[in-house]
This record gives sequence, C-alpha cells and structure tokens, in this order.
Amino acid sequence: MTQQTHIRRVALSLAADGLPVLPLRGKVPFGNCRACAGNACGGRPNMKNPGPCQCAGVCHAWAAATTNPHVINSPAWGPAWRAAAVVAYHPGGAGLTVVDLDNAAAVAWAREKAPREAHPVPVTAGPWPGVPVRGRGAAARAEACWLPIKDGLTRHGLRHGHRTLLEELGVPKALIDERMGHEDGSVSALCTHITDSMRAAMVDGLTDVWPRSLDDRLALAPRSAVPTLDALLQERAASAGAPLKITPS
Ligand SMILES: [Zn+2]
Ligand SMILES: [Zn+2]
Repeated sequence: MTQQTHIRRVALSLAADGLPVLPLRGKVPFGNCRACAGNACGGRPNMKNPGPCQCAGVCHAWAAATTNPHVINSPAWGPAWRAAAVVAYHPGGAGLTVVDLDNAAAVAWAREKAPREAHPVPVTAGPWPGVPVRGRGAAARAEACWLPIKDGLTRHGLRHGHRTLLEELGVPKALIDERMGHEDGSVSALCTHITDSMRAAMVDGLTDVWPRSLDDRLALAPRSAVPTLDALLQERAASAGAPLKITPS
C-alpha cells in the first residue's frame, strides 16, 4: 500500500466516523487553485466570510474539510492526496487538529475522542427509543433514526448559553463568575461581595425558567431514555402546566 493510499484510507475511515477531513502537505493546507487565488472567487460558503465559491478542489483550506466520501475520492482531490503527508480533521467549532499518520495512537485517539459533527444515529425501531445500529451498512439495517437537535450544539456551547441566561436574569457578574467556576473573574478584581439575597434571587430566576424548559422538552417528545429526565417529564406532564414544585432534598 502506498503512503498516499494509506492516507486516503485513514481519511475515509475517519470521515465515516463523522470527522470532517482534509489532506495536508506537511502540517499546512494546500493553497487555492488559480481561480480561487486571493479569494478572487468570492470565498467559500461556511467560511468566516461566506462566499459563493463552489470550487471542487481542496481550496479555502479548512472550509473544504468534508465527511463526504465522494468528495474525498473525487478527481479534484486526487492530486492533493498524492502530495499529502498527513490528514487533518476539522470538527465544526472545535478548532483544528492534525492527525499524525505515523502515530497509530493519534489516529485511534481521533476516532475515539475527537469532537465530531452532529450526525443522524441509525437505531432499531424498538424497544423505545431504539438501540443504535453500528458497523457496516448500519444505515440500511436501521429502522429509525435519531436526528441532531441542533447543528453545532456542544457541551461548551451550553456553558455559554447558561451564562447568557444568568445575564438575562440580571445575576451580578461576581456570582456568575463563581457559578461558572472562573477563578480570576470579578470576585477578586472588583472585591464585589456575593450576598445571600443575590443567591436567592438567582435561584428564584432559575426556578422560574425550569418548568418552561421542561415544557419545551415535553413538546419534543413525552419520554426520555435518561431515567432522571424521564421521571421529571412524566411528573411535569401529570401536573399539566401547573407551576413546578421544587422539593429541597
Ligand atoms: Zn479553487
Ligand atoms: Zn474558491
């Protein structure tokens, strides 16, 4: 097996696992083709400044990263694979990681641990909510499919969402920093004191948001595979829109 076949094969298997990949020469991307040089084409969609370029090549560096095997195997990408030294993957919003193909552990790490694009999960029809179908031809064997709730939703993104919610509720910055675990926030910098009434106001605000979140979740589906959430949903459904009682434990 030649080195370039090896690189492309690793890229295809990473892509099949949901990691958008791109050929690299050394640890840097290939330059743009003549038509795309200097962004004369107007740039590519999904870059920072979205543009109309539909170039089939590996132009515009990371914007070209894909999980589509037809693109990866396309004639336009052929010369890049022949000259490629490594493969990069580019999970949306997670920055860029280069997979060193000389290092089997790095490739295994990418497959196991790398953040990946949200993609549909093929599942069996029952028992509800289905069991994920894995391996070759999984999509064909599946009887149903879980779909991502939202593109680009990450656990880190949820932290930002929570911070925004706290700001909306008017929670003082010092208390937000404490809650988010920011050691060097305004607590020490501004000597702001967090009082019991600030904490109480925050808890009240979040408590008001909670039943509305459960109602939003109920509108998606009445049950959950997560036992704790499932119990909360059933309790909420039974209370039929009544304010949620929070019992201190
Ligand atoms: Zn181009
Ligand atoms: Zn272009």
